[in-house]
Amino acid sequence: MSYLTLKDINKIYPNGYHAVHNFNMEIEKGEFIVFVGPSGCGKSTTLRMIAGLEEISNGEFLINGKRANEMGPREREIAMVFQSYALYPQMTVFDNIAFGLTLQGVDEDVIEEKVKNTARILGLTDYLDRLPRALSGGQRQRVAIGRAIIRKVGVFLMDEPLSNLDAKQRVTMRSEIAQIHRETGATTIYVTHDQTEAMTLADRIVVMKEGYVQQIGTPYELYFKPANVFVAGFIGEPPMNFVRGTVTNGHVAFGDNQLDISKKLGAKAAQYEGKNIVFGFRPESIVLGAVEGAYQISATVELTEMLGDNTNIYITAGEDKAILKVDPHDTPEVDAPVTFSVPVENVYIFDGETELVIE
Ligand code: ADP
Repeated sequence: MSYLTLKDINKIYPNGYHAVHNFNMEIEKGEFIVFVGPSGCGKSTTLRMIAGLEEISNGEFLINGKRANEMGPREREIAMVFQSYALYPQMTVFDNIAFGLTLQGVDEDVIEEKVKNTARILGLTDYLDRLPRALSGGQRQRVAIGRAIIRKVGVFLMDEPLSNLDAKQRVTMRSEIAQIHRETGATTIYVTHDQTEAMTLADRIVVMKEGYVQQIGTPYELYFKPANVFVAGFIGEPPMNFVRGTVTNGHVAFGDNQLDISKKLGAKAAQYEGKNIVFGFRPESIVLGAVEGAYQISATVELTEMLGDNTNIYITAGEDKAILKVDPHDTPEVDAPVTFSVPVENVYIFDGETELVIE
């Protein structure tokens, strides 16, 4: 039996807006789950239904196999860290972290031990006497996390906890959150619109779009086995290149290049004659030059971006465009012709109507 079960969960807001459609998932104890997707896709709504802050319109939510739909937030033994962390400005870090336990009337000795242990996990030991205004944004966010993790709860919910931090602090806090998870082993559900946060933190990622789950899988599965065009385009930076076209005589065109889809699809290719498909390949999964057996494509270099560890090359072939990620030492000249190869195993072909990957 899994720890959390979401069975056909739906949210229809009072104004009739259907924000979450048939969300199904089993979450094991200790897992780090990330909900990711563009703004408005239903991530927070789902999280708030798990927290008990939002009513579940339809479907069933179970904790340890027990129906939890009607349980209040406290009864669910869930702690939530929000985007905007409101610390008490007149209280020290110690008192902020201790606050919940103090309210419950827990013994002072016990509180002291727990706060010290929490502060150690969060690297706040030297800051316990400070007021929040004497802390950096990242440190304040750690105090907010401390307030949540000091209580023994089953599940931590985090809603975009890093969105108020600058880019550098976000990277630091990201590794700290991973470290906190390793130390506490707490089941965590984390909401973000940032695919890098999702890829680096998650045991499993749930990709959502317009209220529907698109795919649930490990970072590896989402990157190498995307279920559809949306997931393929959402995970990876720069995103996967897509060539949309109608299959004609077994080929799809990329500029003047004719790409033989049977190379990838084998006998299945015949089914797609005259149909629309999407031919996808990642910027980083190409080789410059012509490689025997691979898809070979000739194009023109439009722009190059030298980023240090790699160069992005923007290419065009007729109306079609793509981005290639290459070693900076291999950067071609702008306006020069370029030939590159995509190994067949690095190509994804999707049905142009359903947008689902063709296996
Ligand atoms: P995300 O967290 O993925 O950005 P949300 O879960 O906050 O998305 O919102 C999902 C959709 O539900 C959005 O279109 C949002 O406008 C809508 N929504 C959120 N709260 C309400 C509400 N109280 N009433 C009606 N619609 C809402």
